[in-house]
Amino acid sequence: MRILLIEDEPAIARTIERGLSAHGHQLLLAESGEDGLLFLETETVALVLLDIMLPGMDGHETLAQIRRLRADLPVIMLTARDDLGSKVGALDAGADDYITKPFAFEELLARVRSLTRRADQKQASTLEFGNLRIDLLSHRVWRDDVPVDLSRREFALLEYFARHPGHLLSRQQILSAVWEYDFEGESNVVDVYVRYLRTKLDRPGEPSLLTTVRGSGYRFDPPGP
Ligand code: CA
Repeated sequence: MRILLIEDEPAIARTIERGLSAHGHQLLLAESGEDGLLFLETETVALVLLDIMLPGMDGHETLAQIRRLRADLPVIMLTARDDLGSKVGALDAGADDYITKPFAFEELLARVRSLTRRADQKQASTLEFGNLRIDLLSHRVWRDDVPVDLSRREFALLEYFARHPGHLLSRQQILSAVWEYDFEGESNVVDVYVRYLRTKLDRPGEPSLLTTVRGSGYRFDPPGP
């Protein structure tokens, strides 16, 4: 599994990296919240370990930004102090769990396991981004708890976007994933269906969930909480 560690202390980062890779995980290391967010925009990450005391943007601010990008991404905060305030603060800010440094590595592993198990179960049945909820089993969609009625193809297109939040997807990629054939030549079928989805999902006065990237394709920008 791919884990992003946002931690500025090299000794701690090395220890965590050694331990996690010994258990078959791949670690991406960012030394600041800003760098961590860049990774999240470009890499596939299954879980984040986030230090609170960071240079520049601190852990709480970083967490708020992570939540804006990926509402459902499991985040464990690393708190240096054993003080209740910072733990409660971490959970209030949307962390899934926290662990106090120094910690036994087995404890960290156990928390990683438990969170990813939960995430897997959730991932299997629903995708959630702020006020947009997609049930992959029943093929139902809600915006602000209001059901949105989608055709089979519209749902497939939305699901494809939702599985690649923030990624630029070309028309060709979308065609072969959602229409399942390699379409040669000109077709505006993707544009037509994107328009259907916008009509059904977007809210007046707010930016569209589906951004047109001129000359390239489309990008799904998840709504905020
Ligand atoms: Ca630190």
